Parts: sequence; structure tokens; C-alpha cells
Amino acid sequence: MKLSRLLFVLGLPLLIAGCATWKFGSKDAAQPSPSAQPTARSSSPDGASPAVIKSSAVAPAAPQTSVAGQPVILPLDFTASLGSVRRHGRLYTVGNRIVGEQGLPVSLAGNSFFWSQWQSHFYSAEVVKWLKLDWKASLVRAAMGVEGGGYLEHPQEEQARICTLVEAAIAADLYVIIDWHDHHAHQHTAQAVAFFETMARKYGKYPNVLYEIFNEPMQDVTWPNDVKPYAEKVVAAIRAIDPDNMIIVGSPTWSQDVDVVADDPIKAKNIAYSLHFYAGTHKQWLRDKALKALHKGLPLFVTEWGTCNADGNGDVDEASVREWMDFMQQWGLSHCNWAVSDKDEAASIVKPGTSVQGHWVEDDLTTSGRLVREWMRSWAAASGAL
Ligand code: MG
Repeated sequence: MKLSRLLFVLGLPLLIAGCATWKFGSKDAAQPSPSAQPTARSSSPDGASPAVIKSSAVAPAAPQTSVAGQPVILPLDFTASLGSVRRHGRLYTVGNRIVGEQGLPVSLAGNSFFWSQWQSHFYSAEVVKWLKLDWKASLVRAAMGVEGGGYLEHPQEEQARICTLVEAAIAADLYVIIDWHDHHAHQHTAQAVAFFETMARKYGKYPNVLYEIFNEPMQDVTWPNDVKPYAEKVVAAIRAIDPDNMIIVGSPTWSQDVDVVADDPIKAKNIAYSLHFYAGTHKQWLRDKALKALHKGLPLFVTEWGTCNADGNGDVDEASVREWMDFMQQWGLSHCNWAVSDKDEAASIVKPGTSVQGHWVEDDLTTSGRLVREWMRSWAAASGAL
């Protein structure tokens, strides 16, 4: 019997106990305030009803990281310690669920970095390690800016930033989403294919890696005519090199039209679909669209969400965040918060001028940063990883 198999068998009782005690939303605290980044969004309503999942939970030992709620500065040399990927292995879709190699549902919480061309000072191994150590991140998202002076103009420079984060995440045993952060990816198909072929060759053997091939298609495109044909080309290019790692696909209306996709999904293995929301803007009507998709068997992955409005302004909407967290817990969805940034706006997790080395104290965090950190730590605790 392989050691991993033996450990799994021995861990089964723990796992069952873990399922019985699975809970979320026991977060007592938070606070509201200022504004954020992305683009304006909109959409429309619908309805449905959920189903409850059980979590996996073989609790690994985690490093001691806080005393009385205050972070303790530790040497960042723990990268060999057990993290999310050794625990769950490569991720797969099974119906509308995402599971690990042992077939158990996996629900991850992590941070999305900002457009790589505009907040590259945070694209470092030190920040990745800090997010694992203090925020209990189980995944990170490397958001490679494509337009706006990004990859189209400086391919080597932007790709190098992504590689820095991917390699830091692999070293820290975290999942990492390689995000083609573009609103017009269907107009850059050749570049996307070349980029993802390079990524698949470099990283396709690592279970840590997920490919997100179209961040947010906008409202002026359709799924059947624009996004799906693009996605099929990029998926085929990746699959020719990497047969198994998960590929995540966006949908029109800033990755909200998952209900449309559910009627006409891509025919390929291990494909999930992104759902993006901003708590100040998107409410039950967007969850209703997500429910429609889930009920049709579409696996969703919240690769980007924010605590505030979608236009980059407005208050942190703590009550709406809680509703979304409840929804994601109920459906076992994984999520990445926008964004690791010190830009002066609400969605940024740290204040302008904050250290790019991590080791952040509470006063370095924005209102959004404090709220997100609490939810992420709560998520990790509920899955037995804290
Ligand atoms: Mg692979």
C-alpha cells in the first residue's frame, strides 16, 4: 500500500468527524467603508434552490501564526510545510462540483492579485508566503494584464511576473490560477494560445495550476458567437500539451452569464466556469443566475469577487458579503478576492504605500482587507486547515 493510500485510510475517521463539524459564517466582526477597481457591470434575475455538500477535512498541522489575534512575524521559510495541494491533489470537476484527487469536494479561499502591469510590486514570493501564513490562503490568482500596456505590448515582462507568482505558489503548496486578464480575449486568440501553450509546457505537470483563459467578456459579445469559439481554441491548445489540469472559462456580462453557458457548455474534460461578483452591486439576482447554472450541472468557480461596488467605488457591503459567503459555503464554491493592491480604492486589501514584503499589521489593511482576511481565516478554520 502506498504511503499516501495508507494515510488516507488512517485519516478516514478524522475526515468523517470533519464533515460533521463543517461550518462557516461564524465570523463575528467586520466593518464597512470606501471604494474599488474593475469595470461597471449589470444583469438580470431568476430562481432556484440549493443542495448541501459535505467537506473534505484531513486537518494538517499549520504553523503558529497569531497571538491574541495579532500576527506574529515568523521567518518565511516554511514553504515545505503541508498546504492545500498536498492535501487535495489535482482538482477535477464532477457534475457541478469541484473535487480533489480522492473525489472529495474542495472549497478554497484565496486572493487575486491586481492587473500585473499596474501592481507588479506585489508580484513576489514574499507576498504569496504571507498570504498563506497569515491570511490562510489556499490559492492565489495571477492576473496578467493583457491590454492597457500589458502582455500585448510587453509579453516577456508580464509573463515573467506570472511565472514569479506561479513558482512561489508551487513552492508554498498553494493552488494558483493563471488568469488571462482581458476583456477582449476573443480579439487576441493567437496571443492567448501561444501564452497558454507556454504555461502548459512549463507548469502542466503541477497539480497546483489552473488556467483561467478569459477573465471577463463584456456585454457586446455572445457565448455562442464569440466566447465559446475562442475558448474551444484555447482549450484545445492547452489539452494538446496538458491533458488534465482544470481550465476555467468566463462568460459574457463580466462572467455573470453562467446560466446561458449552462445550456451550451464546452465539450472537453475538466472545464469549470467563472462567476464574478461585487457585493455592493450584485445581489440575489446574480445568485439566481448561478443557481440556474448549478442546477443544470455547471461547475462554478468564483475566481474574482469584491466587497464593494463593481465600478470601483462605494462602501464595503458587509451584509451582502455575508450572503455571498453563505451561498458559496452552501454550494462548496471556491473564491478569490480582488485584489492584492495598494491602489487608493476600496477593493484594495492594503493601504497606499504598504510594504511589498508582507508582514502586514492590522493598520496596514483597508476595511476590505480586514473583512476579507477574517473570511479567509474562517474558511480555512472550517475546512480544518487553520
Ligand atoms: Mg497536467
